Amino acid sequence: MSGRVALPDGATIVVIGGGPAGSFFAIRALRKAREHGRRLDLLILEKEQELNFYESACPFASRGGCNYCAGGISPKLAEVLREDGLALPDGIVQGRTDRIVVHGDWKSIELTVPEGKEVLSVFRGSRPNKRLERYTNFDSYLLSRAVDEGARVITAEAREAHFSADGRALIGYRVADGERVRDETVGADLAVFAGGVNQQMGKEAGSGRLFQMVEELIPDYRPPKVRQALISEMQGEEDDLRYMAGELHFAQYGSKDLRIEMSSLIPKERWMTVVLLGKSVDEARPTEYLEIVKGFLGLPHIRRLLPGEVNLKPVCLCHPNMTVGMARNPFGHRTAVIGDMAVSRLYKDGILSAYTTANALADCIFSSGVDRGSLKMFYRPTVADLHGDNRFGKMVFFVTREVFSRPILSRIFYQSLLTERKNRPRQKRRLEGVLWKISSGDDTYRHIFAETLRPRTAWLIFAGGVLVTIRNYLTERLFGLEWGDFGRYPTGVPLEEVEKKRREIMTVLGLEPFTGQPEFERMYSIRMKADEKAVFRQLGKFGDEDRKYFKPRFVNVHRTVGGPNEVGSTVRYDVLLSRLSFNVVLEKVVAGRYLLYRVQGGFPRGGVLTFDIDRSRPGGGFLTIYVAFNFPTSRNPLKRLGWYLFKLAFPGYVHDVIWNHSLCELKHVAELDQE
Ligand SMILES: Cc1cc2nc3c(=O)[nH]c(=O)nc-3n(C[C@H](O)[C@H](O)[C@H](O)COP(=O)(O)OP(=O)(O)OC[C@H]3O[C@@H](n4cnc5c(N)ncnc54)[C@H](O)[C@@H]3O)c2cc1C
Repeated sequence: MSGRVALPDGATIVVIGGGPAGSFFAIRALRKAREHGRRLDLLILEKEQELNFYESACPFASRGGCNYCAGGISPKLAEVLREDGLALPDGIVQGRTDRIVVHGDWKSIELTVPEGKEVLSVFRGSRPNKRLERYTNFDSYLLSRAVDEGARVITAEAREAHFSADGRALIGYRVADGERVRDETVGADLAVFAGGVNQQMGKEAGSGRLFQMVEELIPDYRPPKVRQALISEMQGEEDDLRYMAGELHFAQYGSKDLRIEMSSLIPKERWMTVVLLGKSVDEARPTEYLEIVKGFLGLPHIRRLLPGEVNLKPVCLCHPNMTVGMARNPFGHRTAVIGDMAVSRLYKDGILSAYTTANALADCIFSSGVDRGSLKMFYRPTVADLHGDNRFGKMVFFVTREVFSRPILSRIFYQSLLTERKNRPRQKRRLEGVLWKISSGDDTYRHIFAETLRPRTAWLIFAGGVLVTIRNYLTERLFGLEWGDFGRYPTGVPLEEVEKKRREIMTVLGLEPFTGQPEFERMYSIRMKADEKAVFRQLGKFGDEDRKYFKPRFVNVHRTVGGPNEVGSTVRYDVLLSRLSFNVVLEKVVAGRYLLYRVQGGFPRGGVLTFDIDRSRPGGGFLTIYVAFNFPTSRNPLKRLGWYLFKLAFPGYVHDVIWNHSLCELKHVAELDQE
């Protein structure tokens, strides 16, 4: 069995497994064969039964079952699918993500999906069962595209493998034809194993029949290391999850009792796919799985994500294996192993690595051959490269887990990212770029790791994170701001959105634009799961003694004239130095939407304070606060100098710290105040 063995014209290739790896390989191999003017008989054996939906308008045969996957399609995968003419049709796409939310013990960080990038979600199989359109799913779609290219698909389980006397691989498979079963054998010039690692869920990958078959053909093959995950499909009522549409959540921590290292929540219309990995999952008995999922959804940082009273029911729950290592010798004479059975990108993008290994194999067999030497030379490097990259991935995930699961580190990182967001345009934000790549899988772990080591990254974290956090912490202490029994949320607005929102507020409220940039300008925004009436009611308490927010030490804020949200009502800010005290007068109200206060007296006189409730989604929206004023000046040179020095010394960050804290409190009370 030595020497180069080319794939003959009219060769038969048997692919065991019609998941992504099997379909991607079939598509590429059949296209290559056409390019090279070669005939190819490509047979895919897929053990999942075909579904029959007599009334469905589905143009292709659909596979049943489930491939135990969250169905997240990374930007890279979406891109290569488009380039290969395999762009996912609308029916297959369950969700288009516009925001990835990374949860940290201090605060969550929202990352908007950059223009031109796509993050999608799909169902891999027909589950969850109650789905109306369960015949449309990702694996069936890919398989149908393989059939379009000329693949034959047989619903059968591969059960045996050995070499024939002339060195071809013989694959025995069982076809279930209703009640009857029949065993058949097919000879292959190349056997491709793409059966994944979930033949026996929860057991070491190598213990199943499929792996024994591989070892029959490649005696020194050893399966990759796997780790157990928990995956659950949760179902809500019709509109329950609409509030979360377009979001994708990642959290790398649980609690002291629920040790979670990696988790994702992907809302898909009425469903939400929850994936968990961590020590608590590793050590759990099957009877504990449901409790783990429920416990996870009940954790404060997760509970806060879910809209109000939503009651999610787990309709599917399983504990599949996830590939976390690399198989030894995933190639042999006329035999190769692809997809999860060979290697997978660590914790992200397994489908993309299935694509990568499948394509590398298809390229290799046409450019070189199907003998062990050719596969070692031209196929193995791709598998080894993915594995090598995963080593960096381990370090990246270790660091991010440590950072996001600790309040202090998480606060520092959050702060540095926010500082950068407020000061630099999106395309120049390094920290946001790195976090985007980690969470979306948009770059190799190698590159991500290298970027985190750059001195510039360390500087951004030190100057924008460590120093600013110390300063903010001291400010909170000074003004008596305690983080009580309510969540902490980001309120910073990225530079590019400030401009847009300012224009909107000015236009709607008929405000005279400032000449030039106001000398002091701040915008804060917070997402609320409360309707506008509740938010408006709470805003009406601005200045009331019994309000539950905006009560910093040293600043006595109280209404002196009028009632809640009443035009002409006046709220007084008394500060230590009476010369700095001022009034804000409610000048305009657009019910349920905008409040415009004008500043009278004090240093910010003539300035504005506006509240804007933008209810962009059912069940919630954003409350945005906009503050702008110019510092006073005077004809008297001494006074002018005095105001100038005051402007230089004015601690704008105190305003940020107080309003961030107040908005988190306000969100909390408004959400409790739903009618
Ligand atoms: C909990 C979890 C969540 C994940 N989430 C994501 C995600 O969001 N995004 C992402 O990109 N990746 C994700 N992955 C990884 C991804 O699922 C895998 O990397 C990917 O499915 C690998 O594809 P594959 O074709 O190698 O194997 P599989 O998808 O497992 O497909 C194997 C196919 O072979 C068939 N088969 C098996 N044995 C036989 C046999 N003896 N005869 C015939 N057919 C057989 C099976 O029925 C199946 O259809 C996740 C994995 C897990 C465990």
